[in-house]
Amino acid sequence: MNIKKGSQSKKKKTKLLIVDDNSNNRAAISYWLGEENYEILHASNGISALKICATFIPDIILLDYNLPDLDGIEVCQKIRTNKTLPFIPIIMMSSYAPEANVIALEQGADEFIEMPIQSTELKSRIKAMLRLKEAISESSELSKENKKLQELDIIKSNFISKVSHELKTPLQAILGYADILLGGLQGELNYPQKLMTKQIQNAGEQLLNLITQLLDFDNTEKNGDTTSFEILNVEEIFNYLSQVTTPLAMKKNINMNFVLEDKNIQLESDKNMVQKILLNIISNSIKFSNENTKVLISVKDHQDLFIEFKIQDEGIGISKSNISYIFDSFWQVDDSITRSYGGLGIGLALAKKLVILLGGQILVESKPNKGSTFRVLIPKEFKASTSISLLSLQNAI
Ligand code: ADP
Repeated sequence: MNIKKGSQSKKKKTKLLIVDDNSNNRAAISYWLGEENYEILHASNGISALKICATFIPDIILLDYNLPDLDGIEVCQKIRTNKTLPFIPIIMMSSYAPEANVIALEQGADEFIEMPIQSTELKSRIKAMLRLKEAISESSELSKENKKLQELDIIKSNFISKVSHELKTPLQAILGYADILLGGLQGELNYPQKLMTKQIQNAGEQLLNLITQLLDFDNTEKNGDTTSFEILNVEEIFNYLSQVTTPLAMKKNINMNFVLEDKNIQLESDKNMVQKILLNIISNSIKFSNENTKVLISVKDHQDLFIEFKIQDEGIGISKSNISYIFDSFWQVDDSITRSYGGLGIGLALAKKLVILLGGQILVESKPNKGSTFRVLIPKEFKASTSISLLSLQNAI
């Protein structure tokens, strides 16, 4: 009970400055507003109004158009050009409407009220102006916060790219030496030495893949990536993907099945990007599948529209509640330190960004413990305006 009372009494009062040489007017306004939560300050001329503004910084000003020293317009202009002051709503009061009305609004007043003033009108105009002030200060706070976040984002991004480059160079040297040792250039290794060197090579490659993924992700975030389009043969893409992913699958005895019914399927797109997209998805299918299962990779030519790549696994699947998050950066179903699957949670975010850059779509269906199916749709021909609409998808699939 006491706490409530205390917090009520602490509620900050709104500072209202009344500038009028007529003390009766000031007294009347103070009287009308007396019951409201205002701290009322008075000024009988323009110069003292400006002094009050500099020290007490009112939340709102009621300003008489006619003042003995500086007139209302001059006071208005001086407040508006003072960069040290926040936005203070000014309501100009005058009996010379409508000419004075227009001049006052042009010179920086926000609202106008005709004298003699009606108390109810005055109260509602003040409230409206305070709402406006609050909205403006909230949006300027937001833009400040936004700016701070953007600066932090640049620092984060620079950090990622510096650390990744620093890690990549020595790692490549380690992999190079492992290669030399395995190749027998420095003498034949015995069996245990070969096994250990192979393990160094495997772990190094895994780490290099992660670093490359992080660099790719950072690049796409920063530059949006530049695309380079050429005619691609799907058979060549499949050969590359099979070559890279089969060794990973073999470790878990997963049967990789690349099905290409028509060897002549072609599309005009960015080779590097298409390969990265599919590689990320297929690597996930292998990673999130148990031993002795199957991964099926197939392709369908939707005539002149797009090419549909389908990646089906029999893995752990994704629950309905999680499926909407999987394309978010750094999101993983299991993000605990003790999780059984490696990765940074950026593979799908990167894949989605690249698919969108190519004007395509990425779709997923999944059932826990049954498996997942990812569909990647890439336009057959890239035009600046090309992007697959959901309607054309529904018609085509
Ligand atoms: P990462 O694989 O590095 O964790 P991704 O961005 O590639 O990150 O994937 C995000 C998350 O989506 C994964 O951590 C996993 O929880 C889930 N996921 C992605 N692909 C599959 C899949 N084929 N089967 C089951 N879960 C998946």
